[in-house]
Amino acid sequence: MNDRYVYYFGGGKAEGRAEMRELLGGKGANLAEMTNLGIPVPPGFTISTEVCSLYYKNNRAYPEEVKRQVARNLDRLEKEMEKKLGDRNDPLLVSVRSGAAVSMPGMMDTVLNLGLNFSAVEGITENTGNSRFAWDAYRRFIQMYGNVVMGVPHDDFEKALNAIKRERGVEADTELDASDLRRVVDSYMAVYEGMVGKGFPQDPIEQLWGAIDAVFGSWNNERALKYRRINRIGELLGTAVNVQSMVYGNWSDTSGTGVCFSRDPSTGENYFYGEYLMNAQGEDVVAGIRTPEPLSSLESANPGVYQQLAGVKERLEKHYRDMQDMEFTIQEGRLFLLQTRNGKRTGKAAVKVAVDLVKEGMIGREDAISRITAEQLDQLLHPMISPGMKKNLKPIAKGLEASPGAAVGRVVFSADEAELWVARGERVVLVRRETSPEDIGGMNVAEGILTSTGGMTSHAAVVARGMGKPCVAGCKTVVIDEAAKTFSADEKAYREGDFITLDGSDGEVYAGSVELEKPSLGGELNELLSWADEIRHSARRAGVEDGFMVRTNADLPQDAKLAVDFGAEGIGLTRTEHMFFEDAKLTPFRRMIIADNLQERVDALKPILKLQIEDFRGIFRVMDGKPVTIRLLDPPLHEFVPHAEAEVSELARELGTDAAKLLKRVRGLQELNPMLGHRGCRLGITYPEVYDMQVEAIMSAAVAEARAGIRVQPEIMIPLIGSTAELEVLRANALKVIDRVLEGADAKVDYLIGTMIEIPRAALTADLIAPHADFYSFGTNDLTQMTFGFSRDDVGTFVPEYIERKILPFDPFQTLDSSGVGQLVEMGVRKGRGVKPALKAGICGEHGGDPSSIAFCYRANLNYVSCSPYRVPIARLAAAQAVLAAK
Ligand code: PEP
Ligand code: MG
Repeated sequence: MNDRYVYYFGGGKAEGRAEMRELLGGKGANLAEMTNLGIPVPPGFTISTEVCSLYYKNNRAYPEEVKRQVARNLDRLEKEMEKKLGDRNDPLLVSVRSGAAVSMPGMMDTVLNLGLNFSAVEGITENTGNSRFAWDAYRRFIQMYGNVVMGVPHDDFEKALNAIKRERGVEADTELDASDLRRVVDSYMAVYEGMVGKGFPQDPIEQLWGAIDAVFGSWNNERALKYRRINRIGELLGTAVNVQSMVYGNWSDTSGTGVCFSRDPSTGENYFYGEYLMNAQGEDVVAGIRTPEPLSSLESANPGVYQQLAGVKERLEKHYRDMQDMEFTIQEGRLFLLQTRNGKRTGKAAVKVAVDLVKEGMIGREDAISRITAEQLDQLLHPMISPGMKKNLKPIAKGLEASPGAAVGRVVFSADEAELWVARGERVVLVRRETSPEDIGGMNVAEGILTSTGGMTSHAAVVARGMGKPCVAGCKTVVIDEAAKTFSADEKAYREGDFITLDGSDGEVYAGSVELEKPSLGGELNELLSWADEIRHSARRAGVEDGFMVRTNADLPQDAKLAVDFGAEGIGLTRTEHMFFEDAKLTPFRRMIIADNLQERVDALKPILKLQIEDFRGIFRVMDGKPVTIRLLDPPLHEFVPHAEAEVSELARELGTDAAKLLKRVRGLQELNPMLGHRGCRLGITYPEVYDMQVEAIMSAAVAEARAGIRVQPEIMIPLIGSTAELEVLRANALKVIDRVLEGADAKVDYLIGTMIEIPRAALTADLIAPHADFYSFGTNDLTQMTFGFSRDDVGTFVPEYIERKILPFDPFQTLDSSGVGQLVEMGVRKGRGVKPALKAGICGEHGGDPSSIAFCYRANLNYVSCSPYRVPIARLAAAQAVLAAK
């Protein structure tokens, strides 16, 4: 640790820099950077995140040196401002704000107007001649300080304020005059004293340390902890505290405050986007209490300030080489910047901004690729209402298009209800007047969010965009009665539990549950992904000369088609058992299962052969020359027959067989531990006619398509190999069938026969298996199951608790356990390639679509990853990011 705890910014120079965000927090680092750039920033100082960590280590106390440095910097600030905290004549007032290295909007505490006391109020009144402003600032300060520092309920102050408003017969706070506000102050003082047990502190230094304590204390408040958990924000030192001289957007009618983005955070369009309120403080805009004006009206109302702001925006965006989210205040026509940061944005905006910045020469393609997260891409693949359907729908209300995508769910009116309903398995839409940081848990589980007040930068809008949730904000025609749990819109009432549908892309709200569809890739996204593809394809690693490929797991031609449209370069896994669950194949397949002798079994398979040939032809056609890995039957046979006696009798009737005999057979198929039982290649060994039929179907389909002029690359995959002999036997069987099919066929078909590595023993003996395999595909679902000894089907009973208690860092069935299971993958590749240097190796477990597992697969020298169709774009991006990260 260094011995500087406090960093000053002001007078055109700052002791911090943008790169120091770990130490100064994002806000502090950027205030310093803006000061150094000569942008008008009210001066102040930042107490570092190290102090936050010391504060907790020292049982919520500070080393003396911190106190000394705060005092020195306060002195410097007072000299620069030529004002003193608490001074009877023209006092200095400051804000005390949080700011961690990672932005956590609204989660921690802020105190404004600090330094006010009775004599400072008099000082301000004398100096400005504006006593209304002075009393208003004081009552806001008492309320904020009382609430944030001493925990006095917000509502108690609101009640006191409303009593005076009622007495005066006014509705808006702005209608109260100076003497009314003076009474509000007295009444707030009484509320404060009643709750705290002593009077409101008049000593500004006591106030300052109270506020600093509260901000550091808010680092570990419940909502901040929850936010960090939801957003997986890990080890940070803590928050910094920024003490900054106040400027006032509520000083006069030529004052105001606003939030702006250098580009549209919802769509990414390059136009100056923002909102502001005249005669208001910053919190009024963010809290969504008043609906603000668009920035374009500032252009006409005050072109000078607008031009200056637009100039600052240009400079900041060029400087940071990214879209900026800025907070500004105008005090009596003078502009001040209070914050800048890289703006949170929707997936759509993220892609558009990144691609546009490349075209504008501000960043390179690799930067663009690195900036997009899997979650952002995922949003683009989220459901929407099809334009065709939309034409026939009549919205019940229309608000602001605050965060795109469509959502369907049951109406709930509180965040807690949202969590309860979702825990019961319901989908919900959270409907609120406005949201606040306490609602974060409910927002996280809701399908979408609807608010009746607030603008595009209200809490609901900002948080929803960050989460990638559809949100319609400021929907004024929705009138909510929270107590009755109803809202009305378009002259109808909607109750808790009713279905509604939101379209966050155009702000429309519909009654009922509207059917949604998945979108396809758009122009900018295609462009970005094509850059990602170039990066992947040009990667070279030991034993892998053709880049890092992305395939898909697809069982049906329509899934394969979708995946190809999303950019899949082959099929890494077709689970053929999914084809047997179709009615047309199930009955003959069941007949095969209960057959008494070989002939009966072979006869039963005949009709299935024809159907399987059609399945495979469909897939080959869609894949049009790309490699197609088809896995032979894997699950245990008992999964294909019913178990309840009544159903067994029914099946016996259908198959024309004796019920008792069938029941006996069904019981005989049952296993105590089917995941480790008679499945995979073990079926192929004991019922060779099943695999023979499948191999015949694959090759006949390949020949038929080849004859029709389609290039085919079948890769026959044998599952669950644990010993070399299993593969030797099954390969020999397959070759016999293949030779038979190809003999006399007037088309050439290149094929491979490979195996899955999904049993630890297969990985350990990968060098012995390799001579019999043309490729390896790591089945990391089973490999994880068998390495951990966790049943895949039962992890729900204990893994969540393991993660909660940090016994596991994550669910190993979602993210590959690189240090354990990963060793088996690496060993499998190494041992296999030790025997066959060019052995093709891929992954087809669920991990193939998970970004951090994809990075592992790249490092482990796998040729490809394979994932479900909707994950393919994410895998293309994550694969390119893995290549870049390894450079
Ligand atoms: C695997 O085990 O990883 C795999 C892909 O096979 P399945 O999930 O079908 O067992
Ligand atoms: Mg498996």
